[in-house]
Amino acid sequence: MTTYVWGYLEEYAQEREDLLDAVDTVFKSGQLVWGPFAEAFERDFADYHGVAHCAGVDNGTNAIVLALRALGVSPGDEVITVSNTAAPTVLAIDMVGAVPVFVDIDPKTYLMDVDLVEAAITPRTRCILPVHLYGQCVDMDPLQALAAAHDIPVLEDCAQAHGARYKGRIAGSMGQAGAFSFYPTKVLGAYGHAGATITDDPEIDARLRRLRYYGMDEQQYYVVEQGGQNSRLDQVHAEILRRKLTRLDGYIEARRAIAARYDESLKDLLDSGLILPETVGYNEHSYYLYVVRHPERDRIIEAMKAYDISLNISYPWPVHTMTGFSRFGYGKGDLPHTEEVAGEIFSLPMFPSLGESKQAEIIEALRTTVESL
Ligand SMILES: *Cc1c(COP(=O)(O)O)cnc(C)c1O
Repeated sequence: MTTYVWGYLEEYAQEREDLLDAVDTVFKSGQLVWGPFAEAFERDFADYHGVAHCAGVDNGTNAIVLALRALGVSPGDEVITVSNTAAPTVLAIDMVGAVPVFVDIDPKTYLMDVDLVEAAITPRTRCILPVHLYGQCVDMDPLQALAAAHDIPVLEDCAQAHGARYKGRIAGSMGQAGAFSFYPTKVLGAYGHAGATITDDPEIDARLRRLRYYGMDEQQYYVVEQGGQNSRLDQVHAEILRRKLTRLDGYIEARRAIAARYDESLKDLLDSGLILPETVGYNEHSYYLYVVRHPERDRIIEAMKAYDISLNISYPWPVHTMTGFSRFGYGKGDLPHTEEVAGEIFSLPMFPSLGESKQAEIIEALRTTVESL
């Protein structure tokens, strides 16, 4: 069922030869933890984004943690972000000892409502962390103008936004740094855990490189930087990612074609209460997820099981209401749009290898379900 939702087994079937060759190449080299494969991927990933630097790390959560530290975020500092995100966005802030300050979302795009950010800035604000959720970018121009006026760095959470664009600019290249996850389900996925940061700033990059390597300068046994950890990118993932990066635009194209078919086939269900994703005119969506909304969400998910179709919710619980984050003092009622949306959103199957006939079955099942509510 999981594979049906995400489709990476289908992808493996298609790319098996190339991926096994990548594994064999790295294993034969004897350089498993550090070396030319990771360096090659970093170069290609930086080039893809038109930035100077990329540092490969062990997962997306640590990409955010290390980028926050490299940007100078210290215990007790405040980081402005959203609650409608994957919990790791906020966990990363917590891991640094900083404090998340949540702003509500725009109920149409489900993204950070940039108009609310100024009121959230305090003398302790040390970073703004917009999340380009589902594959669509936050409204970066006003956000960056505000951040620049207050001299606050912007870190983009791009874990769901590989290849997404805002006014032609690619996600991750707009703020002081961008953090990526290559968790297998993501638009660019490794075959295990992996992540990366990108930046144009050589000092931020140099700090990131020390922080991911115990706080040492490369090749030394001497810790120079506080807050380091063991977070390098494994070579085997790097080589798999380097090969898959050449196919990333194709994956995104396939996702957009699937989204266009959903858009076209489901638009008349608006009358039955089904709200489709809204892409802002200046954005190029990369459709990590195709998120729809309906007040009877739970009934729809239950009914779709009869067709052997399992639907995901990203995410059912707003982060600010989770008990593991209760020390930050937020609760139900604090972020009305975030809470309302969390009760109604769900995701339709979306992955590059989703065939047209399978998608047609999903569309028909959903139509029957929604119209019979
Ligand atoms: C997946 C994800 C992360 C965390 O990445 P991992 O590689 O799983 O640690 C962070 N933020 C967002 C928005 C994500 O979707």
